[in-house]
Amino acid sequence: MSRKKVHDKEFEIYIPSAEIRKVISEMAIKINQDLAGKDVIFLGILNGAFMFASDLFREITLDCQISFLKLASYAGTSSTGNVKRLIGINEDIFQKTVVILEDIVDTGVTLDNIIKQLKGYEPAEIKVATLLYKPDAYTKDLKLDYVGLEIPNDFVLGYGLDYEGLGRNLADLYKVVED
Ligand code: 5GP
Repeated sequence: MSRKKVHDKEFEIYIPSAEIRKVISEMAIKINQDLAGKDVIFLGILNGAFMFASDLFREITLDCQISFLKLASYAGTSSTGNVKRLIGINEDIFQKTVVILEDIVDTGVTLDNIIKQLKGYEPAEIKVATLLYKPDAYTKDLKLDYVGLEIPNDFVLGYGLDYEGLGRNLADLYKVVED
């Protein structure tokens, strides 16, 4: 079934799971080479990156750690309502090589916010690995060290990404059908 209806929108298959797996394997090979010998901790950003993090991590051969973070709205904020606090940093990232695992980088605002907060914990360096990247929407100068696929400015769904809570369980990546 190549089309799915989720809530009010129609989606069609965009990137099949076999291609996603191939892209992730290639990324894992690069990470394994680049970060050999370093003290590495992967930080998956919930919810969207859980599937990517899981598939990538099983192909990582480094001696390393993984943990997951979530962005939560600051309680009681009014003026800066879209600034979100990073929660769940249990592992000590001090002087470690941190690899942020993101499902998608769109404007880059979320990533910028995450990096600013992580810097406060004084890691040795921060690398970014994202499965998807929308270059036409990107507004930041932050380096994206590992990019799986560059995609146009379409809304995508599946492989961990949702549309209003649904669709994260789809193995393939879908994109919205504009009508
Ligand atoms: P940014 O801060 O880079 O603009 O946005 C990052 C977040 O926006 C992602 O973590 C994701 O939650 C959401 N997002 C951006 N583009 C898409 C998309 O095409 N599909 C879905 N499901 N979420 C997206």
